[in-house]
Amino acid sequence: AVPVLTIDGPTGSGKGTISRAVAERLGWLFLDSGALYRAVGLAASWEGLDFDDQEALARCALETDIRFEDRPNDDPLVFVNGAEAGSDLRTEIAGAAASAIAAIPAVRAALVEKQRQFRQLPGLVADGRDMGTVIFPDAGVKVFLTASAEERAERRYKQLKQKGFEVTLDTLLRDIVARDARDTGRAVAPLKPADDAVSIDTTGMSINAVIDAVLALAAA
Ligand code: C5P
Repeated sequence: AVPVLTIDGPTGSGKGTISRAVAERLGWLFLDSGALYRAVGLAASWEGLDFDDQEALARCALETDIRFEDRPNDDPLVFVNGAEAGSDLRTEIAGAAASAIAAIPAVRAALVEKQRQFRQLPGLVADGRDMGTVIFPDAGVKVFLTASAEERAERRYKQLKQKGFEVTLDTLLRDIVARDARDTGRAVAPLKPADDAVSIDTTGMSINAVIDAVLALAAA
């Protein structure tokens, strides 16, 4: 089978940066599954869908065309139904919309195949919440990244500031705590480490130290 390395964890745990770097170092494909949920959330708001209409949201998940265009040392460009939506996808609004639709079983089911299609040679690094538990249960290496909520809020703050977004640390911390509660408390695919995942607490660790720790697991 095509090798897969899964990296799951809560928002702001550094998953995105770490996964992309690890994929680059290994020369493997990279799946940012959160971007799929964000893209569907964004498409649903563009279409003015009712966020209580589960059937319409599941249809939206099936029908939304989502394409990634990788760029070296940067977030991939993301095209949602043909429109480049990279920066829209990173907003907290898209994150909240993603988190809301991600709690709907039919939406998650609609995205299973889209995610598995990324499993191609020479290998895949998959970043998300349920990569190791639901989407790629047979992955050879599973990592679960954590960090304190305060540190995650600070990382997000720096990231968003750098991109020119007006945000406050307080709001971000509140958003993160709320999103954690929703992601871990939901009935379908709750955020939790796979039984065979290796957990790494990245609080106080540099990005490079985490990348090295993950690469060491991949090489073992
Ligand atoms: O990782 P990111 O913050 O971009 O994900 C946005 C939201 O999408 C998360 O809060 C989570 O609710 C949802 N998500 C998910 N399963 C994944 C990836 C993301 O439920 N595999």
